[in-house]
Amino acid sequence: MRILLLAPPGAGKGTQADRISAHFRVPHISTGDLFRRHVAEGTPLGREVDAYLRRGDLVPDHIVLGIVEEAVADALTRTGGYLLDGFPRTLAQARQGYQIARRLGATADAVLHFDVSEPELMRRLLERGLSDGRADDTEETIRHRIDVYKTETAPLLGYYRGRGVLVTIDAEKPVDQVTEESIAALEAMQETAGA
Ligand code: AMP
Repeated sequence: MRILLLAPPGAGKGTQADRISAHFRVPHISTGDLFRRHVAEGTPLGREVDAYLRRGDLVPDHIVLGIVEEAVADALTRTGGYLLDGFPRTLAQARQGYQIARRLGATADAVLHFDVSEPELMRRLLERGLSDGRADDTEETIRHRIDVYKTETAPLLGYYRGRGVLVTIDAEKPVDQVTEESIAALEAMQETAGA
């Protein structure tokens, strides 16, 4: 199963992605986690992206596409599938990502979208900032990341709806229910894709 996860910051992507990827036995690839690991390890790539993450700005496409291609190719070799969390975030990334996936013979079967209202996102992110101490969970950066999502990423919903692969889940529901509904919807897509 090859899944893209499209959700605003604070929608609970990380937790759900771990559970869903375990269910479908595919690697969970989080571009945000990959970047944070590079920053923590002080690699050249980490030094290049650090300021973008701190500001809540998008990392330039050529950097993102490089790490996504490497991670997806590795996931495909190991399992034939992937759950990509945090990519694509722009229409340009979606188009280029599609070309890469086609070249690898592994375009996405489904795009899972988590819908959460803006006040709830703010509340969750501020809470996470207090508990996890993530550098980009300050109020100003959170507002900026939500704005970036609305202007750059939300237009992808129409793009994927038009391709017939979009599944939207109300992610304000309890965590377990979100997991169950996501898995059920994805399994239905998988049957259609396999048919
Ligand atoms: P996330 O963990 O998905 O919230 O991502 C954290 C940060 O990593 C974002 O605010 C961006 O700075 C960067 N990032 C993650 N994925 C992407 C992407 N696909 N394109 C550009 N920047 C990204």
